[in-house]
Amino acid sequence: MRIATITNWAYGLTLALTFGSGAAFMLAVDADKDERHAVEQRSAYLRIASDIELIVERMTDQARLYAMRGEPAYKRAWQRDRDGATVIDRMAARLQTLPLSPVEAGALREADNSLIQIETLEAAAIAAVDRGDQAGATALLYGDRYLALYGDIERSLTRFKAAMKARTERDLNAARDRADRWDDVARVLLGLTAALFLAVLYFILARRVARPLTHMSNVVNRLAERDFDADLPDDRHQDEIGEVTQALRLFRRSTIERERLERERDEDRRIKDLIARMMHRMQGCDVEAELADVVACYAPQIFPDLAGHIFVYDHARGRLGTIGDWQEPVLSLGDFAPSFCWGLRRGHPHRSNARGEDICCQHIGDIDGQDCLCVPLMAQGGIVGMLYFEAREESGQYAERSIYLDLMSENIGLALANIQLRATLGALATRDPLTGLSNRRHLDEIFNAERALAESQGSPLGCLMIDIDHFKRFNDEFGHDAGDLVMQHVAQVLLSHARERDLACRFGGEEFTMLLPGRDSAAAAERAEDIRQTIRKVALAYRGRPLHPVTVSIGVAAYPGQSDGASLLSVADSALLQAKAAGRDRVVIAGETPPDQPSLFRAAS
Ligand code: GH3
Ligand code: MG
Ligand code: MG
Repeated sequence: MRIATITNWAYGLTLALTFGSGAAFMLAVDADKDERHAVEQRSAYLRIASDIELIVERMTDQARLYAMRGEPAYKRAWQRDRDGATVIDRMAARLQTLPLSPVEAGALREADNSLIQIETLEAAAIAAVDRGDQAGATALLYGDRYLALYGDIERSLTRFKAAMKARTERDLNAARDRADRWDDVARVLLGLTAALFLAVLYFILARRVARPLTHMSNVVNRLAERDFDADLPDDRHQDEIGEVTQALRLFRRSTIERERLERERDEDRRIKDLIARMMHRMQGCDVEAELADVVACYAPQIFPDLAGHIFVYDHARGRLGTIGDWQEPVLSLGDFAPSFCWGLRRGHPHRSNARGEDICCQHIGDIDGQDCLCVPLMAQGGIVGMLYFEAREESGQYAERSIYLDLMSENIGLALANIQLRATLGALATRDPLTGLSNRRHLDEIFNAERALAESQGSPLGCLMIDIDHFKRFNDEFGHDAGDLVMQHVAQVLLSHARERDLACRFGGEEFTMLLPGRDSAAAAERAEDIRQTIRKVALAYRGRPLHPVTVSIGVAAYPGQSDGASLLSVADSALLQAKAAGRDRVVIAGETPPDQPSLFRAAS
């Protein structure tokens, strides 16, 4: 029931009870009045009865004294009283008008009759005295009849008084009872009013209003301080407090929901901001290792609860290899074939977890409570790598994070493809496509850098100019492809003899250059001789036909021994020409006499 209804009812009841108790008090007061009236009436009756007795007695005395002494004063006094008997009549008349019971009225009537007869006797006695018959008067006044009448009056009046007393006593008691009863009713109603008031005060104000209000005020204060643990019990009362409680609970729920949405929005903004920053950093990466560093820096910030790897697909090997990781992933292999991963097989993110919801990837070891996700990195329709995540928890919440994972994988895939494309373009710009060695342009760049370094540090810089002997014959006799094969063979040997910062380069046609930083002419010549011998040792065949033995002539020069930095290549080239002129298949150090025989250099050294 609503509090307003209860209070209205309580108000109405209190009002009714108050009126009721007021009325009962009035009735009690009224009964008191009746009681007082009964008392007054009784004393009035008694007084009248006494007056009658007194006058009767006095008239008797006056009449007898007049009879005995004959003094007129007594007669006058008697006559006054007799005339005054009208007073008695009036009194009697008054008594008659007062409510009398039949018994009282009867007693009074009898007393009146006797009084009339006594008066008649006394009048006769006085008349006898006036006639001089004192004896007759005395006989009348003291005679049996007179005494009998006198006694009748006394008895009648006594009976009257007794009956009247009994009746007024009854009236008195009835009035008293009524007064007491209304008094009790008034008290009870007053008590009920007080009880009702206290009940309303306790149950409505204290229990139903004050207590819940205090609780609500507490909860509202705590909610204002963003303490969302504060809650109100579910109040199903259909009243104002119940409604306010429900409204507060709704307010709390909507505030929590709003907080949650705000947190989600902030988290969303934070993650997108991190992804955007990661994208910007990735755009500045030149090599995969740099990109791996960027991903390893940002991934743990984006997903603090996830460890992971970034894998790159190596087309040459046909395998995926990790180029970076974060937060110490432990389950996945670092190098594996694409067929080991269901994500790569299907070209879609694939989840592996202990719950067995889906098939586990083979590159993931024993999953024990972890939750793993493989996200293929795609670009231009092909796989360029894979992002791998590992959650220590039962759930990595991947479904909720799919939008970020998509965003990340898409951008990392594109950045990776971009780096690879740039690397390919770079290789195309600096590599000779036939041999895979650096091209002339790249040689010029590296030569200038190495030369500057050697000049600044005073360190030696060796240079070999290598030319395949009679190369034209391979072309002419076995075809251009056979010539290419020979060149590739020479290039492989040069690469296998390149150390650390050494650079092998196709200078042009069938002529090659090797830069050997830190090598003087002797060390360079020694390397040249190794190369020459290695090349000639291999017997090549093309389409089953053995080719001529491949030999090379090598000119050697070094800074600072044989040349200044700038002319190093031309000095080495001159030495090469000397080697050609001296009969080919030999090594010539610039400024030295060419050996007579190919092996002489070795023999001489
Ligand atoms: P020499 O011993 O004096 O160096 O004689 P040679 O035949 O090696 O030198 P020559 O300069 O006469 O011939 C070089 C030939 O190399 C000419 C050219 O057709 C051939 N050649 C240049 N570039 C390529 C190439 O990329 N592939 C093939 N197969 N042949 C090439
Ligand atoms: Mg040649
Ligand atoms: Mg040549």
